Amino acid sequence: MRYSSLPQLMLLLLVTLSAACRSSKEVSLPKGIPIVTRAQWGAVAPLLPMKTQVPQKITIHHTATNQNLNRTLEEKLKALQKFSVERSTLSSGRVKEPWADIPYHFYIDVKGQIGEGRQLQFVGDSNTPYDPWGHALIVLEGNFQTEKVTEAQRQSLEQLTLALAKRWKISAENISGHKDNAATACPGEDLYQLLPQLRELVSSKR
Ligand SMILES: [Zn+2]
Repeated sequence: MRYSSLPQLMLLLLVTLSAACRSSKEVSLPKGIPIVTRAQWGAVAPLLPMKTQVPQKITIHHTATNQNLNRTLEEKLKALQKFSVERSTLSSGRVKEPWADIPYHFYIDVKGQIGEGRQLQFVGDSNTPYDPWGHALIVLEGNFQTEKVTEAQRQSLEQLTLALAKRWKISAENISGHKDNAATACPGEDLYQLLPQLRELVSSKR
């Protein structure tokens, strides 16, 4: 291909440079598993600046809302993003200040579909006092104090955890539940009891 004019050449240089800048800032998603990206579900840009991080741990959460088979993953993620960036009063009476974005990096719905939440290179958020720097936060749809993790959710959680552990060299002992880090019932009984076998899986595949 030949470039006949200087402006054309300048344009090509600019496009190449901006692509290089973008790729150096973005952390790629784990390979080999289907993830509905932010662009695919129609995320809006984060509303506030965020701190960057390097993932060193994996922390599991539940949404604490009931599983819903009738709404799509896209609808759920859009609703979660809307809630996340607004100020609201929680059921505990505490006021939640607006967050920049969805607090979690990955969302696994009741059907086992995985959605990209906050981009992994940015620190997540929490309603509880612990420092989430370095934590890759995964949330599963459901209230696992009363509901059960579906088979599809369990399989996706295993795939995603394995892929993240491999990509970021995260060891089994750095996989925990929210309640191991702060005073909370999250991720609920039924999900929490899956964590020992999740750690075993990660250590067996290393
Ligand atoms: Zn949690």
